[in-house]
Amino acid sequence: MDKRYEADTVSRSNKVFPGSGSMIGLLKGVARTTGLRRKHVVSARMYCERNVLARTKRNRTRRGGRILCYHSINQPEAFGLNDVTPAQFKRHIDLALGWGYRFVPAAHIAATGGSDKDLAITFDDAATSVATQVQPILADYDIPWTLFAVSGWSDHATPWARENVLAWRGLEDLLNKGVAIGSHSVSHPDFGRITQEHAVDELVTSRREIERHLGFAPDVFAIPLGQSMNWTPFAHAAARETGYKIIYAQAEETRPEGTVPRTFISYYDHDAIFKALLGGAFDRWEEWV
Ligand SMILES: [Zn+2]
Repeated sequence: MDKRYEADTVSRSNKVFPGSGSMIGLLKGVARTTGLRRKHVVSARMYCERNVLARTKRNRTRRGGRILCYHSINQPEAFGLNDVTPAQFKRHIDLALGWGYRFVPAAHIAATGGSDKDLAITFDDAATSVATQVQPILADYDIPWTLFAVSGWSDHATPWARENVLAWRGLEDLLNKGVAIGSHSVSHPDFGRITQEHAVDELVTSRREIERHLGFAPDVFAIPLGQSMNWTPFAHAAARETGYKIIYAQAEETRPEGTVPRTFISYYDHDAIFKALLGGAFDRWEEWV
């Protein structure tokens, strides 16, 4: 998993999830006494939260479509708990189609709200597997999808990026195949912790670099990390000023004002969890990895 993600794990989240608090406390205690590595605690905590919340009955507070957020397929070393298997990904699509959902572009839901049976697929970070796995699968199903690229990572300036993320040529290929591409910043920072000057640079430079390499200036932006704490009113105003018309965040009920919600998918999302998340079980849950 990228170090930037790892830095935002257990220590930063102090949310209480219905029914899972005591389990999380227990896990932390066990970890302290046994010396379990943090990544194991993170995995166990995420597993508990996903399963406990999936069994909690909740009603959606908003009508309309839902935008799913994936990261990678078969790249668990780089993307950790955000990674899914090809079989899991296809299973999600088959289940949704079987339940009467239809897949539409994310921008359609963002612009219109969509209908209750509208779903959209987005991928963040431009992992290499979006070209090798996601594109062939979604082309087979004829499902439109949107990709959010981190311009500095697609420059391939670091070994981690070269190994795990698509370079500009790969993005251009996907664009030519009809994939919608948006910005996910230059360096994937936490906008809640950077200076205003830095925030403006992330917004402006990533848009300019995408235009320079791909020939168009994107008008959609996905907030890195994506929690409500990772965004500010200043960043929001600056994003609008920069030319971003749609700003994608996370949970339906906790997202910053003016942003469009997405529902994050995790490695643990088997059939029952996937069904629950489509029904709204995670509409107050923000991924903290
Ligand atoms: Zn990201």
